[in-house]
Amino acid sequence: MKKVSVECRNIRLSYGKTEVLKDINISIEPGEFFALLGPSGSGKSTLLRLIAGFNEHQSGQLLVDGQDISRVPPHKRNIGMVFQSYALWPHMTVWDNVAFGLVERRASRDEIRQKVTQALETVGLAHLAKRRPNELSGGQQQRVALARTIVIEPQVLLLDEPLSNLDKNLRVQMRQELLSLQRRLGITTIFVTHDQEEAMTTADRMAVMDQGVVQQVGSPSTLYDFPVNRFVADFVGTMN
Ligand code: ADP
Ligand code: MG
Repeated sequence: MKKVSVECRNIRLSYGKTEVLKDINISIEPGEFFALLGPSGSGKSTLLRLIAGFNEHQSGQLLVDGQDISRVPPHKRNIGMVFQSYALWPHMTVWDNVAFGLVERRASRDEIRQKVTQALETVGLAHLAKRRPNELSGGQQQRVALARTIVIEPQVLLLDEPLSNLDKNLRVQMRQELLSLQRRLGITTIFVTHDQEEAMTTADRMAVMDQGVVQQVGSPSTLYDFPVNRFVADFVGTMN
């Protein structure tokens, strides 16, 4: 699969009179695991939804693989998103939940069988294919949500606080799983979190956001050792 870059250039977005994203500039390398870190309300989800195509920006450019996709509808973007609340279909089996996106795309039965099997194996859930979501643990449900997203082979993976509903131990385990999955697939990934430690321990590079402004972009160690302002120093420095 081709590794693609993602670039936000001078992106602005307002809800009414409230400017939620203020001149966002971020350039993410092909295959990078990029964390977007910031406190609640800083605009992380808004930016992620914008990249997925669910929010429209008033100005600026959004480039994937060098192409401005601002006018491309979500289902044609080849971008997969995992939400904080996984929203699996409760009445469908794990298998059917994962197959859903392929069925929608009118994939053949053989293709569906092969790809769903592979996606479930990738997240280690092949043995639970016949279960329903309420028969799974929180971690397993999150793996289903991941499988459901990677099965359509997106070029970009967007993760919006995917681990925040899990307890601490599981969160630590799952973030290692996420990272190794990302490395295996080599897929450009944007991982949103408000947890400093989670960002610092996973990201190749990260951006720290506050109040709709990107305060700093760099490697975890750069941000830790050379914060550009007090906000970054305080936010990145406080491990919880
Ligand atoms: P984060 O994900 O970092 O917690 P959000 O992107 O969800 O932040 O929200 C950023 C700001 O935008 C917040 O002040 C929030 O209240 C506001 N906001 C988000 N969605 C909407 C919406 N649909 N309409 C109006 N304001 C919104
Ligand atoms: Mg959010």
